[in-house]
Amino acid sequence: MKHVLVTSAWPYINVTPHLGNLVGSVLSADVVARYYRLKGNDVLMVSGSDEHGTPIEVEAIRQGITPKELTDRNHVRVAELFKRWDTSFDNYTRTESPVHKKFVTEILTKIYQNGYIFSQDTQMLYCEHDHRFLPDRFVEGKCPYCGCERARGDQCDRCGRLLETTALLEPYCVICRNAPTVRTTRHWYIDLSRLSGRLNEYLKTNEQLPDNVKNFSLNWIKEGLKPRAVTRDVEWGIPAPFPGAEGKTIYVWIEAVLGYVSATIEACQRLGQPEKWRDFWFNKDARTLYFVGKDNIPFHTIILPALLLASGEDYNLPWNVSATEFLQFKGEKASKSQRIGIWIDEALEMFPVDYWRFFLMATRPESKDTNFSWDFFLEKINADLNDTFGNFIHRTLTFISSKFNSEIPRPDELSAEDETILQIVKEKVNEIGNEIEQSKLQSAANTLISLSRVGNQYLNEKEPWNLIKTDPAKAANIFYVCAQIVKALAVTSSPFIPSSAEQLWQSLNLTGNVSASRWREAETPFEVGHRINKPKPLFSKIDADDKKLDSLLTQVRERMAKAAQS
Ligand SMILES: [Zn+2]
Ligand SMILES: [Zn+2]
Repeated sequence: MKHVLVTSAWPYINVTPHLGNLVGSVLSADVVARYYRLKGNDVLMVSGSDEHGTPIEVEAIRQGITPKELTDRNHVRVAELFKRWDTSFDNYTRTESPVHKKFVTEILTKIYQNGYIFSQDTQMLYCEHDHRFLPDRFVEGKCPYCGCERARGDQCDRCGRLLETTALLEPYCVICRNAPTVRTTRHWYIDLSRLSGRLNEYLKTNEQLPDNVKNFSLNWIKEGLKPRAVTRDVEWGIPAPFPGAEGKTIYVWIEAVLGYVSATIEACQRLGQPEKWRDFWFNKDARTLYFVGKDNIPFHTIILPALLLASGEDYNLPWNVSATEFLQFKGEKASKSQRIGIWIDEALEMFPVDYWRFFLMATRPESKDTNFSWDFFLEKINADLNDTFGNFIHRTLTFISSKFNSEIPRPDELSAEDETILQIVKEKVNEIGNEIEQSKLQSAANTLISLSRVGNQYLNEKEPWNLIKTDPAKAANIFYVCAQIVKALAVTSSPFIPSSAEQLWQSLNLTGNVSASRWREAETPFEVGHRINKPKPLFSKIDADDKKLDSLLTQVRERMAKAAQS
């Protein structure tokens, strides 16, 4: 059996994720993990909360609590929300996990001993008032490139350029607003240039990597890899294990990507199989998949592979990295302060989780940024999920229930057309599987709908409700075929809309859970004489327009804000 490790970018938990944070990472990973489980693979799905780094520290100072208090609270909240989104994590952990800290310490020690890490004096901003260095987000100022007045120490939000704090014009400390001084401090760096040949080779020979990911990463290498700091002068983080680096911590971006390995180790420890993680990280037949937003590409195709290579331990490098474009909201970037966007907690207060899961996958931003609008949402839910997918299933099952006494009709000399439909079902099931394996989840979700459309058209053309009076054998054949389509839909939809698929599985009176069944069940005929349970509609139409939904969202926000205060 092939081992498949499915991972998603670690959410940074200074705030609750919004739909755009979820679509390309956690949700995509979940669909793919569920699919590979159905295919009978040995699957682990892991990720966790990324909780170190200066934005968390700055936010904790603002709230008057410790960073750990902040992340304890937010980690529980985010983990709970992911459960409510029906994500099937085998391990959703955090970077404060002792397993993670131990692993990071050990692998960085090896990388140091292998000679890839050196130290060097550098100039850093220092706040004389707060008696601390000011890395990354601890300092703001004017962007030297575009003149934006409030560029952050690590990046300018307006022009998008990555910055060094010392490059900022008119810098000030974000805690006390005083102008900082410059001090000399020693930092530790990984020498990426020494790994660039092997990284280049890895990227060029990896046939799974999508073109956008591959080209972006190869360009990075072409421009020349520079040494990258792995330490910071802050207390919140994992202590740097290098001789002379006492009091320094590991830069958050270096340790967070190592969480993919530590989360696998932790998952296997919990399973009581502490050595099993090696099957995923060293067995060359294993597949490791990463689902990230496009702004995270180099951390997964350059930084993580560089660290794994530098350890000298023959780790599996990412087999595939799927990077989504951005999900915009009515043409703009999500912003909590400006109330642009929809957050993953708010969404669940408005509609059932499967509506969101289906919508986000059917519109997954794969080749360009996509734009959320309520009209788009209504079209996908009402026309595709309810009218096409849901109605075909409901028509079929209610007819079998009332006219065939709930028994799946027995096929009797199927017509060539019936056989053709069954052949199309087979092809569509394969197509959905192939699309998921290629991380083309948007296409896969839409192929799923087209499979139900095949059934709907077949019913409309054949009108078996009339035939049953004149040629009952023919009508029975048609409902036999439709029942097979419904079963195929139950299996193939389960990665996308797991709880609706489960409800359908129960209506079909099939044993166990669809999520624990097998993909091949999609093509396995019902047993002769199989009886179904009374069907219930899976979805209902949303009777609202753009305006109504905007005001519903506002009501939800007000209710949640009130609940948070009390
Ligand atoms: Zn700028
Ligand atoms: Zn200060």
